Amino acid sequence: MNESLDFKLRCLAKESLTRAKKYLAETDNYLIRSAALELRLAIESIVYSRAYKYRDELSCNDLETWQPRKVLDLMLAVNPIAWKGTELSLEVDDTASKTGKRWVKIGAEVSLTLQDVKKHYDALGSFLHTPTLAQLSKSGSPDFLRMRKRCIDISDLIESVLNSNMWNIRINVEVCLPECLRCDQPLRIFVDPKKEVNRGKCFNCGAGYTIKDATDGSPKLKPHQSKIPCVDDQCHGEAILWTDQIVVGYEWACPLCGLEHQISFCASEKAN
Ligand SMILES: [Zn+2]
Ligand SMILES: [Zn+2]
Repeated sequence: MNESLDFKLRCLAKESLTRAKKYLAETDNYLIRSAALELRLAIESIVYSRAYKYRDELSCNDLETWQPRKVLDLMLAVNPIAWKGTELSLEVDDTASKTGKRWVKIGAEVSLTLQDVKKHYDALGSFLHTPTLAQLSKSGSPDFLRMRKRCIDISDLIESVLNSNMWNIRINVEVCLPECLRCDQPLRIFVDPKKEVNRGKCFNCGAGYTIKDATDGSPKLKPHQSKIPCVDDQCHGEAILWTDQIVVGYEWACPLCGLEHQISFCASEKAN
């Protein structure tokens, strides 16, 4: 992958924003859709540009992901503060003057957060479709005034992101997780460092876990599993099933006697 790919993506985002602003400046309401499309492209370019900083931790499959929200989730699983805005300051020791030690701000990054993407990306997508029958029966025509206002707000947000004098700054919160008990791949789960207890699923196989103290070097993992005793009363075998395996039709063999089992519906008399 080219070293300057993140920069190129940033340039693409700027080009999309310029086109979006041009369309929004026109009075023709039908150009709002073109603006919405360009704003979506800008969001994608910004997200991919940041993902480039995580290219060593993301798999080839991850890098094929095109939905910005999914890409963000993948990055957050690597680094829970992947989308935090950053401000950098330097402490200057100017003892010769009266001011002495002081902090000097070098720059700040406005970043596009997961909340921003969730809030705006799909909304822009909805502008690219013909209004539904229900919407048309209610309003008679697309609500161009609302669409234009929303696009202008999003355009302002993207502009503030792209005008940051620092960008794609990466500060890590170390998350120390072992390999997944089910797929043996390094466990990647988004953990919020502010929370003592997190719940999530392995990105690779979907196995569920409750994780305590994920960022202090000795995380405690509780896999979401249940022990299912063998249906043969004479056998003391127990199978361990993950919560997501307990669905109708799932099959397994007792680890002790080999008896085949299957999850199925069963109605029984209500206990009093
Ligand atoms: Zn797994
Ligand atoms: Zn058994």
